[in-house]
Amino acid sequence: MSPPKGDALLPSTTTEAAPTKKSPSAGLRLVKGLLVGIALWTCLNAAGLAPVPGCVSDGLLRGYKAEEQCPQVSAVTPDKNNALWTALGETFSTDAFKTRAVEWLGGAVRVPTPSFDKMGPVGEDPRWEVFGPFHDYLLKAFPLVHSTLEVTKVNTWGLVYAWKGSDADLKPLLLAAHQDVVPVNPDTVDKWTHPPFSGHFDGERIWGRGSSDDKSGLIAILSTIESLLESNFQPARGVVLTFGFDEETSGLHGAASLSKHLLETYGENAFLLLVDEGGGFAQEYDGVVATPAVAEKGYIDVRVDVTSPGGHSSVPPSHTTIGILSQLLVHYEANPYEPRLSRGTPMYWKSQCLAAHVPGVPHKLRKALKKAVKSDHALREAQKELFKEKSFRALVGTTQAIDLISGGVKTNALPEEAWAVVNHRIATDSSVDAVKEQDTALLKTLAQEFNLSYTAFGSQITGKDGTAYGTLTLTDAWGTALEPAPISPIDAPEYALLSGTIKATYNAHRSLKGDKSIVIAPGIMSGNTDTRYYWALTEHIYRYNHHNSGNGTALSNGVHTINESIDADAFLEMIRFFSTLILNADEYTA
Ligand SMILES: [Zn+2]
Repeated sequence: MSPPKGDALLPSTTTEAAPTKKSPSAGLRLVKGLLVGIALWTCLNAAGLAPVPGCVSDGLLRGYKAEEQCPQVSAVTPDKNNALWTALGETFSTDAFKTRAVEWLGGAVRVPTPSFDKMGPVGEDPRWEVFGPFHDYLLKAFPLVHSTLEVTKVNTWGLVYAWKGSDADLKPLLLAAHQDVVPVNPDTVDKWTHPPFSGHFDGERIWGRGSSDDKSGLIAILSTIESLLESNFQPARGVVLTFGFDEETSGLHGAASLSKHLLETYGENAFLLLVDEGGGFAQEYDGVVATPAVAEKGYIDVRVDVTSPGGHSSVPPSHTTIGILSQLLVHYEANPYEPRLSRGTPMYWKSQCLAAHVPGVPHKLRKALKKAVKSDHALREAQKELFKEKSFRALVGTTQAIDLISGGVKTNALPEEAWAVVNHRIATDSSVDAVKEQDTALLKTLAQEFNLSYTAFGSQITGKDGTAYGTLTLTDAWGTALEPAPISPIDAPEYALLSGTIKATYNAHRSLKGDKSIVIAPGIMSGNTDTRYYWALTEHIYRYNHHNSGNGTALSNGVHTINESIDADAFLEMIRFFSTLILNADEYTA
C-alpha cells in the first residue's frame, strides 16, 4: 500500500502551545459588520431565484453539536498495567533501545523479500524461497517471541504467531503486516542515496526497500512483543499475528491462505479487532489528524476487446479495429464517473471531523460542512470546496484509468483485434455491479454506430442478428473484481478503544497532556491491503499503523519507488503505538 506522501515529521519533543484567541479590534468589528450587511443584501436580492452560495439559512447551524458530528474520546492508558506501560515508554525513549530498534528494522531490510506479478505456486516458483532467510532472520532477532508464541507456517511462507491469553473467553487481538516488498527496478539502483537493501541508518533515517512498507509495521509488532516478553508480561487477552508474503501482488498465495487457516482455527468474528498497515497521522490545516482507514475502495479491471475483419492495409476501412478501440477509450475519458460526497460514508465523516475539531479549516468550508448535516445544498457547496483537492475527490468517487493497451502486429496488415484494460477503484458507496452497468451503458451508442455485436460481462447487449461488422466485448480482465470493503462501524467501542490508544500514544511520545492534541477522523484506503481476505474474522478492521506522515511538504518517503526510508523516531512511535494497543486491549471490556 502507499501511505500519503511527505515525510517532514511532526515534532516529537516540543509541547504544543494552546492557540491564543485575540479579541477583534473595533476596526475589525466594523469590517465584519459591513460584510454581514453585504451578504444579507445579496441574499435578500437573490430571494426567489436560484440558491446563492453562502445564503443557506444560518438557522441550519442552530442545534449543531461538534461532538455529535464527530465524537472524540479521551486518551486511553492501561490501568492495571500502567506501571509497565510507563516503564516501557521510558525504555523506548532511551538511546540504547533506539539502537536496538534501528538494528531490528535495518536487519529486516537487509534480507530482500520481493514479490512479483504472476508468480507460480509456492514450492514450484523458486522466487518464493527468499522468505526462508527472512524467517531465519526473525528467529534470530526475536528469540523470546519464537520461544513463547506458537508459530504456524501457512502455505510454507505465511506466518501466524499465537500468543495465548490467560482468559480464553476474551476474543484475541489480531495484528497483520506483510513480509514482502515491491521489487527494486535494477535500472534505478544507482539513484538510491543508500543502496536499496542496505538498511543503512544515517543517524536519522533507516534506508531501504521495505523500511516503510511494510517491514516497519511487521518489525514494530515483533519489537513490541519481544519487549513485553522481556518485561514478563503475560496477556489475559490473546494476541494473534498474521504476516502475508505477497500483499504487493494481491495476496493470493499469502493472506488468502492465512485467512482460511484463521477461519478454521478461530472461526468467524473471532477477533476483537484487526489492525493492519494503512493510515497514519499528519498535519491537516492547523491541526494534527490521525486517520484510521475504516474501509477500502473496491476494484475491477475492465477489458475492452474489439474485433473486426482483417485484410491488407492498402484497402483500409474508415475505422480499423485500433481506431474503433481508440474512440471507445476517448469516450471513456470524456465521461468520467461523477464523484458525490454522501452522508453516511467515511469521507463525509472525515470532513465532518475536520469541521468539528480541526483549527484552520477555511471558514467557508467549515460553515458549509456544518450546514451540510441538514442541507443538501450546503453539502454540495462543501463538496465543491473539498474536491479542489484531487486526492480527496479520488477517494470519494469511482475512478478510472486506462492502464493497458494492445493491438496490431504489422504495418501492412489490418489488425483483427485490439484491446485495452480500464482500471476502476470503486467508491465505498458503490459496487462492482454498478460499475459494470455504467461501463456497459457508456459504450452502447458507439457499439451501434460501428455496428458491433456487443457483449458485456456475459450478456448480449446489441447485435444479436449476426450481421454485425465486428465485436465489442467487456469482461472482468483477470476475474479479480473486488467489492468495496464493509465499513467498520465508528460508533463501536472498538473504534473508541483504537482512538483512545492513538491519543495516548501521540501524547506519551511528546510528553503532552489532554485530549485536544490530535483529532481522530475515520478515512479510507485508496488501494487494497491484505485485509481484503479478513472480512469474516471481525467487523472491526482498521488499516492504521500510527505512521507519522508529517506535514506533507517534504519529499516522498519513497514507498514503491527509489529512496524508501523511515525516520527512526517515527518507527519508535509505531512501537509505542503497538505496545499501548496490546496493553489497552488486554484490559478492555465491552
Ligand atoms: Zn504495504
